[in-house]
Order: sequence, then structure tokens, then C-alpha cells
Amino acid sequence: MDKHTKIIATVSDKRCDVEFIRSLYKAGMNVVRMNTAHLDFEGLDKIVNNTRQVSDKIALLIDTKGPEIRTTKCINNLSVKIGDTIILKGSPNEDSTEKCINVSYPKIAEDVEVGSHLLIDDGEVDLIVKEKGADGLICEVLNSGVVGSRKSVNVPGVRINLPSLTQRDISYVKYAIENDIDFIAHSFVRNAQDCIAIQDILDEYDSAVKIIAKIENQEGVENIDDILRHVHGIMVARGDLGIEIPQEKIPLLQRQLIRKCVESKKPVIVATQMLHSMIDNPRPTRAEVTDVANAIYYRTDAIMLSGETAYGKYPVESVATMSKIAKEVEKAKDSRNDIPVDLVKHDITAYLADTAVEASKELNIKTVMTDSLTGKTARYLAAFRGHLSVIALCYNKRVGRELALSYGVFPRLTEAGSSKKEIMHNTLVKLQKKRNLADEDLVAYLGGSFGIGGGTTYLEIITVTGLLNKVDRYVD
Ligand code: PGA
Ligand code: MN
Repeated sequence: MDKHTKIIATVSDKRCDVEFIRSLYKAGMNVVRMNTAHLDFEGLDKIVNNTRQVSDKIALLIDTKGPEIRTTKCINNLSVKIGDTIILKGSPNEDSTEKCINVSYPKIAEDVEVGSHLLIDDGEVDLIVKEKGADGLICEVLNSGVVGSRKSVNVPGVRINLPSLTQRDISYVKYAIENDIDFIAHSFVRNAQDCIAIQDILDEYDSAVKIIAKIENQEGVENIDDILRHVHGIMVARGDLGIEIPQEKIPLLQRQLIRKCVESKKPVIVATQMLHSMIDNPRPTRAEVTDVANAIYYRTDAIMLSGETAYGKYPVESVATMSKIAKEVEKAKDSRNDIPVDLVKHDITAYLADTAVEASKELNIKTVMTDSLTGKTARYLAAFRGHLSVIALCYNKRVGRELALSYGVFPRLTEAGSSKKEIMHNTLVKLQKKRNLADEDLVAYLGGSFGIGGGTTYLEIITVTGLLNKVDRYVD
């Protein structure tokens, strides 16, 4: 069986040919991420079409910009030197130049006070506001560096009064709806309302697109419980989080956010700089390897690559490296090294999922299998984190792709025209052929007695032969 931890790779339209995406997929990528901060619709179309040519199992995720600030376009990258004075203005339609950096937020000069820091490109360049000039903020450069087009601008500790969604975000939400994209990852989520604003649009179009809240500032962290009630999952967006909040707080926050997500039985992604040095080097640092491993020990569902795959020199190697680390960690995984989580079992699905995972520790169970109309039972099984793979029989390709974010879940997608019976039968036979299952091995099957949509009502532990002989009894 393949690795249990899911991998998200950010892909740019500048490098997204079918063969490239296929090699990422073969190396272990489960989800393609498209960052709308750097893409137009034509670019998105290209990535979406090419990904779909590779496999209908790869989920597609679009990031909105959210209430964020970025630099405007600059023809050439700007080199700034320590001690330089530079003007920063809120003119979204003007290019940035050596003299004046323009940003996308018109009211920047009103919201920011003298003494505030402006951190550009994940903190690569640090500016301090010296004076509020008539022409913009007069800033001193605190460290030398390069400012490029559409780079992030963070103003730690300052509440930015941007709406939940910009017009541009709305147009990308609609793109996601029209193009049957699987996930929208909303940037800089501050509160539940930021997500409800998207959900309202999705509901208006009766869309099944799922929302992932990117937690990347203090407000998002503070409101996490409320946010979690309104989203499909979260991303620990460490790039911006490490700037908006003192970075030494990130390790603990990462653990707390993962724990809350697992307790809510929702998927969680750890993102940014996981293998950053592989943008330029074929081998990661030991610290990066350990970071990826620890995220898995802390029970993340998914790990993400950004620049490593979007523009780095070793994109396929980066995915392969993550896969290798994940497999090794999962193989030697000892639940005593996991952070403890408090999973409530107050509903039937949760109770049965927990029982199946517990049973797999005592009995010779080789795989857990479940029906997945909505994916809920499979996600619950992922939350209880057994050591076995969970096979999710899906009757809808979208639900199958949504499970591309859930730890240890392997969706089996319906082929056009095939019945439930056929999927179960074919799946078991395939696993037997690949020698993953033998006739007398036990399967823990979570099913429902009331047909599709009737919910999970029982757990059956049965041999592969037993299940194959009685497929009719379990599915209609
Ligand atoms: P970004 O989000 O790459 O879109 O900024 C991830 C992060 O901030 O970590
Ligand atoms: Mn971010």
C-alpha cells in the first residue's frame, strides 16, 4: 500500500505540462494547488485541464487571495539596501519601482502607524515606517533584499479592514463552481464570517465545493473553534503565520491547530517551507526532514509544497522526498509518540470508526473498508488514525477526490455504469491480485443497513472470502 500522509503540490502555469504533473503524481502527489495570487483564468484552465488528463483521482485546490496585501507588479525585481529610504503607497494600479513600492490595499497609509513594520515576501525584506508623508509611508529598509511582483506584505499586529472577499476572489469562487474544483482554500481567514461569505455563494449555486480555512494570523488563531464549525478543513499556513505572530510560537500553534482539527474529524494541512531548501538543492536539510516527520507524528493529514514545486529546481524530487519521509515515519509509527487527542464518540459513525480501529490492533485485520456517499465515515476513520489503510468505496468521483486530503484513506472511484456490488467485488479482487489481501485475511467493513444515504449503522469483521461470497448482503 501507498503512503498514508497526503501531499499537496503547488503548480504554476509556467510549468504544468501533462508529463510534469504525471511525474509529480507518480512521486506521490494527491492534490494540485493553484494560487490565484499568481494566476489568471487562462493559467488556471491550463493547470486544470492538464491535471485532469493525468488522473481523475487528483484533487484540485484553488487559493483565494483573501483579505491580504501584496506588492504590485514591478518590471524588474527591486534590490533594496539596508538604510535606504523608500516610499510605500496604496496604489493598486501602479507598478512598483526603485523609488516607490505600491501595494494592493488602498488604505495602507491610514491603517499603519509610525513605528510599524511592513514585511515583504514572507519577511525577506523588513521595512519600518518612519513618517507618514503626503505621498505615502516613508520607510527605512532594515535589511537588504529583493522585492518582486505580487509578493506578500504583512503588517504584524495591525488589523486590516479589508472585506471577506474581494471582487477578484468572488470571480475565482465562481470559477471553482463552474469548473468543478474540489477545494477553495481561503487566505487570511479572520473569523467564521470570512468563510460564510464563500459558503453563501456556493449555496446560491448549489455547489459542493469545499472550503479550507487558511489560518495565518492572530485573529484566525483566536477564532479557530468558530471557524472550524463552518469549514471542511484547515491549513496551518506557516508562511504568513510566522510573520503575523512571533515565529517561535509557530511550533506550539501548529500542534494546537492540528489537534483541534483532528478532534473535529476534519482534514488538516501543514504548509510552507517544509522542504524550502530543495528550491535550489537536490537534498533537504536535516531540520526539514525532521519538520516533515514531526508534522506526521502530530497527526497532520496532509503536507504541502509551495515554491518547491511551483518554481523550484527539484519539484519531482521534493514530492518524492516527502513520500519517502512519510512512508518511513508511518512504518515505524508508534501511537505513544503521537500527541494525545480527545476524540468524542457521541455518534454512531464515530463509535463504529473507533471500534474498527481498536479491533484492528487485536485481530488479524488487514484493511478497513467503508461505503462513502459523503465521505464522512472515511474521514472519521482517518481521525481515529489506525495503522491500516482505509478503502473508501465512492459512488461519486468528487467525494473520492475530497478524500485526497484525508490521512490513510484510499478512495475507489466508481467507473461509469458500475454498481456498488461491482466496486466492492473488483476492489477486493484487485487487492488479492496485488497480494495486499489473502483469502483468510480479515476485513473490517463499516456499512449501513438502510441503503445509500442511510448512514453507517454496523461494523462487520469478516474474511475476504466471506465478504466476496456475500457481496450481495452488504451492498445492493
Ligand atoms: P500562501 O499561503 O503561500 O498563499 O501565502 C501559505 C502560507 O502563508 O503559509
Ligand atoms: Mn499565506
